[in-house]
Amino acid sequence: MNQVHMPLAPELVSIEKSRRMKTIIEPFKVKSVEPIHMTTRTERERILREAHFNIFQVRAHDVLIDLLTDSGTSAMSANQWAGVMRGDESYACSDSFYRFRDQVRHIFGFEHVIPTHQGRAAERILFSTMCREDHVVPNNTHFDTTRANIEFTGARAVDLVIPEARIPSNYHPFKGNIDLDALRVLIEEESPARIPLIMITITNNSGGGQPVSMRNLREVHELASEYGIPFYIDACRFAENAWFIKNREEGYADASILDICREMFSYADGCTMSAKKDGLANIGGFLCTNDPILARQEQDLLILTEGFPTYGGLAGRDLEAIAIGLGEVLDEDYLRYRIASTRYLGEKISLAGVPIVEPPGGHAIYIDAKSMLPHIPPEQYPGQALVVELFLEAGIRAVEIGSVMFGKIDPETGTETLAPMELVRLAIPRRVYTQSHIDYVVEAILRVHQRREEIHGYQIIEQAPFLRHFTAKFEMVPMASARSSQST
Ligand SMILES: *Cc1c(COP(=O)(O)O)cnc(C)c1O
Repeated sequence: MNQVHMPLAPELVSIEKSRRMKTIIEPFKVKSVEPIHMTTRTERERILREAHFNIFQVRAHDVLIDLLTDSGTSAMSANQWAGVMRGDESYACSDSFYRFRDQVRHIFGFEHVIPTHQGRAAERILFSTMCREDHVVPNNTHFDTTRANIEFTGARAVDLVIPEARIPSNYHPFKGNIDLDALRVLIEEESPARIPLIMITITNNSGGGQPVSMRNLREVHELASEYGIPFYIDACRFAENAWFIKNREEGYADASILDICREMFSYADGCTMSAKKDGLANIGGFLCTNDPILARQEQDLLILTEGFPTYGGLAGRDLEAIAIGLGEVLDEDYLRYRIASTRYLGEKISLAGVPIVEPPGGHAIYIDAKSMLPHIPPEQYPGQALVVELFLEAGIRAVEIGSVMFGKIDPETGTETLAPMELVRLAIPRRVYTQSHIDYVVEAILRVHQRREEIHGYQIIEQAPFLRHFTAKFEMVPMASARSSQST
């Protein structure tokens, strides 16, 4: 990434200190390419109208830069593809399983490793084994599937992230930390018997991809031990979190990423993982525990819906790709580039005045659409309006994380409850886009920002009762000023 100007940023101080080149390049070269289908603005206008202005309904073929998610969208390495060929497809006890298990044990250190088809399958098995009605599960911030799987068992999911994390413009080096005082109060109020486990999500996806400090993990471990409550980590972006610890937390600058990972997980009794994130794979996940009785119960459930315990819903080739990906993601050159690339995008637009969630997280940049488009009231979905404009301007697909996604209509009164924040997330797929793609995204955002006062709000004309953001149909709301000038 070219010249990142932010002298105070801790990552950069350490980079500056060394004699490293300032330009952080992609630490890989291209072996196989996938063409991007270029479109014109006129074509994109038609595509949007046909999709009723819902970006989820736009065909991937018509997207130039797809920043919808970093999940399952990673580019695999030549070595991973070689592993795919080597995959052992034996039903039971395949070689691929043992390579996968040993790699997970090597990094995460847990005894029992249960493969699943993705992260939410690990969650469903964990929570249906551990949670009952009137149980409470605290987390820094539960990811949507985590919350849904906890609530499905009748238990309650509680978010206890530090208060600093609730203000987008606030800087905090570990904005993903859990509020330990609030956690203790919750345990005391609910009684430890009703808390089957404490969870921490690294990095905190729903809170902007913000990291959790080693100290916070250690203190949660101490608190959990004091009350005899198991502690689990939602590990999806564990390597990105380790990189932030190495660069922001005292005492870790010289530690290897592997050692930081091992220490993080040494504080936990188990973890859930989606290999679609820091597994650098396109599918897969796993569940780990040190408890042999729990592992048996979990494997019994696994057989019901996922598969035999040595493949759990995956092909042998997937297990190979994950085993290799978990090794590659620890590479410091990869992580330096990964975090610098995300930060480059965040800094470029933020220095030009675009309000974002500060500081940039590991896997995504979140634009604060409510501050960027103050003339669009929340009930006209400023995040949705910005998503539409980014596609129109440059064929970029981002996702609204605001009232379209979380707002709810009261079926009796018909009134709408809005989300606390109106954000637009630009999630960066791993190893997929280059510096010039990111520069193109920066240029597009700045062009949209320049003409932000002309951007219209939207209204929903058709919606489903659940998860409406996937299928809702929208219509543009004419601006008040436009309306009055038309009527005169
Ligand atoms: C993606 C994700 C999950 C769920 O994983 P899937 O593989 O999508 O099922 C759980 N927790 C977090 C923090 C995630 O980012």
